[in-house]
Amino acid sequence: MDATVTDATTRQLDTLIENKRDRFIDHANQVWDLAETRFEETRSAATLSAALEAEGFRVERGIAGIETAFVASYGTGKPVIALLGEYDALAGLSQRGEASRAEPLIDNGNGHGCGHNLLGVAALAGAVGVRDYMADNALSGTVRFYGCPGEEGGSGKTFMVREGVFDDVDAALTWHPQAFNAIFSTPTLANIQAYFRFKGTSAHAANSPHLGRSALDAVELMNVGANYLREHIVPDARLHYSITRTGGASPNVVQADAEVLYLMRARRMSDVQAIFERIQEIAEGAALMTGTQVEMTFDKACSGYRPNRTLERLMQSRFEAFGPPRHDPEEIAYGERIKATVSDDDLRTTYANIIATGGKAGEAYVEGLADRALVDDLAPYSASEALMYGSTDVGDVSWVVPTAQCYVNCFALGTPLHTWQVVAQGRSSLGHKGMLQAAKVMAGTAVALMQDPATLAEARAELDTATRREPYRCPIPDDVAPSPLKG
Ligand SMILES: [Zn+2]
Repeated sequence: MDATVTDATTRQLDTLIENKRDRFIDHANQVWDLAETRFEETRSAATLSAALEAEGFRVERGIAGIETAFVASYGTGKPVIALLGEYDALAGLSQRGEASRAEPLIDNGNGHGCGHNLLGVAALAGAVGVRDYMADNALSGTVRFYGCPGEEGGSGKTFMVREGVFDDVDAALTWHPQAFNAIFSTPTLANIQAYFRFKGTSAHAANSPHLGRSALDAVELMNVGANYLREHIVPDARLHYSITRTGGASPNVVQADAEVLYLMRARRMSDVQAIFERIQEIAEGAALMTGTQVEMTFDKACSGYRPNRTLERLMQSRFEAFGPPRHDPEEIAYGERIKATVSDDDLRTTYANIIATGGKAGEAYVEGLADRALVDDLAPYSASEALMYGSTDVGDVSWVVPTAQCYVNCFALGTPLHTWQVVAQGRSSLGHKGMLQAAKVMAGTAVALMQDPATLAEARAELDTATRREPYRCPIPDDVAPSPLKG
């Protein structure tokens, strides 16, 4: 496959993307400043879609029935190469940019704690790079940027897959900001999330408790039941819950209205579905014990990620060609200040993630990292079957389109995702450099695929073989709509 991708292509893409670096960094900072949460990313989506229109893309907004989802296309015909971008933030993670200590900008405000401001703009910059290359070299085909909202707890892409917006795509590429450089080669956990709302009867808790039927008791008993279930589910499963409605702050009232949100995960969707059935029975049991009624509301689900080894090998070769981000002494000093704020457990988690993707060679590789604050080389690649214990809605895309992703270093070693450290570094030159390299790696992979139909066919055959044994079914029922963050 490398025969068709020359060093000249790499140099040209590098220049095309670097020429617009200030513009891309501005977009990333704008999305960082907006910090909008799932399915409410109205201004972030408007910023990015307008930027793509200005670059000559045709934009279709509100796709898949989701207001903040959009697709921007350039070119015509086959192949269709998609770059996937996200732009949703997290609640409660407001934080000053470029800081090296926790310092909220707004109390309880939102923050880009998973670096999706960088994620979305790198995909945008990659798509613009491909567009510019196609125009300069009369290359035919279609490059698309998919604006994918609601990744954090929203499964935006799963809803988009359900509505068929990826059906004519030949390959999808994306990435995630991280504290290292690697191919995202691991499967992830499938999940289902559902609300259980109990309704009882309120009463004076001292004067007439025998007349009350407590919905809060039902939530507590349901959780006890679920905790006993843990021993009897597959070992890779994860079971989490959050009490989203307690019934009120008054202990002298029998609480009549309480709700708990369950998130169930396992490697295989069939295992998640089996756990979900048992959790529903536990909820009914809790209602029976307490004389309350329960209503379940399906919230969202996503499938486990299915890596495409053909695309991963190509992406690894493009990552080697462009190289990881390089840092100057000032950036290294900032990285050291951030690294001083993370724990040894955080560092071990980063190492475990590298080993999960890199296998045996990854184990040797992490031994060389101890003294560094910033990683400036590429971790070894392996077609890993080790699980990454998390979920992503890229999972559903990977079942219908051959998909590859990489991690690019944007953060000091040991930085855990969903923390103030990610928010701070996401508006620093560390984040911006990683974002631009990610754009180049994705653009290089996309151009290589446009020039090489054989690799595209091989990637499709790999997916077809896998899904023939286990066909894809969207895990979200037809009547369930995307839901913004509550509260
Ligand atoms: Zn993320």
